Amino acid sequence: MLKRKSFVRQRLMFVALVFAVCSFTIALNWPGPPTAKLARIVQRSISPPLTQLERVSSFTVPEEFQGKIISQTTLPLREKAIALTFDDGPWPRTTEQVLDILKQNDIKATFFWISKNVKNRPEIAQLVVDAGHVIGNHTWHHWYKRMDPATAAREIEDTAAQIYETTGVKTFLFRPPGGILNNGPASYAEQKNYAVMTWSADSRDWFYRRTSPSVLVNNVLKEARPGGIVLMHDGGGNRSKTVKALPEIIAGLRQRGYKFVTVPELLALKGSPEEAPATSLSKLKDRELKLMSRARTTVGAGKKPQVKQPQQLAD
Ligand SMILES: [Zn+2]
Repeated sequence: MLKRKSFVRQRLMFVALVFAVCSFTIALNWPGPPTAKLARIVQRSISPPLTQLERVSSFTVPEEFQGKIISQTTLPLREKAIALTFDDGPWPRTTEQVLDILKQNDIKATFFWISKNVKNRPEIAQLVVDAGHVIGNHTWHHWYKRMDPATAAREIEDTAAQIYETTGVKTFLFRPPGGILNNGPASYAEQKNYAVMTWSADSRDWFYRRTSPSVLVNNVLKEARPGGIVLMHDGGGNRSKTVKALPEIIAGLRQRGYKFVTVPELLALKGSPEEAPATSLSKLKDRELKLMSRARTTVGAGKKPQVKQPQQLAD
């Protein structure tokens, strides 16, 4: 009887040992602690539905570029990147044509928006954001005139609010209309730690009445350099020549070994900023400002004045 009890105890101990080994093996292979799994389920079940706020994209820039005026960057050796930028949209037809060309070429670009155009064409603005491009602030009215600090602040803040309300995008990229740095908005943007972006390769498509697609292509290819920023326009006037030139500009740059990046990507390539010819622009003479503002008042609404760009005006 005693022998039998001992035999049963041994069997029980053996079963218990097998059970313990099996449990240990299963525990080792378990994908995660059950509590974490539970937490994930709970978290998911209490998440609010997708809202506008969850769609927020924020285009920030590295600290060393904040509050700086940048026309291009000097990249590490052998890095051959360039950023395509498009100003003055969103605009009927041409913005979508530009989007199509960029998509065909698998390129992300940077669009600097005039917010009254964002307000007028929210559906086009959304297309640009949905396609994954970067957005920058290009003021509300695209004024060239001198502005008092309150007006300059409104030009930027109202634009930021309009872009955010329309697309959920927050941006810390600013491009002053005409590249003018001394009429108010650029100084305000600097104080607010925006990266104030000008350009290093000007397609001169703002001179759209007296140019041709092949001239635009040459203008860009001639001035292209690693770390450069190309200025083009998808809005603000008749941009059919820009649309015609764009595939050739892309092909020409590719042939020269360039890869295409957005402005924040360009700034993140650890290059050093090269300031725009700000010193000379800041000395822009009153006489020249008057010339620009006179030109602005003689053209129709929504059209770019045919004036020299500030870089050419620089003394
Ligand atoms: Zn512009």
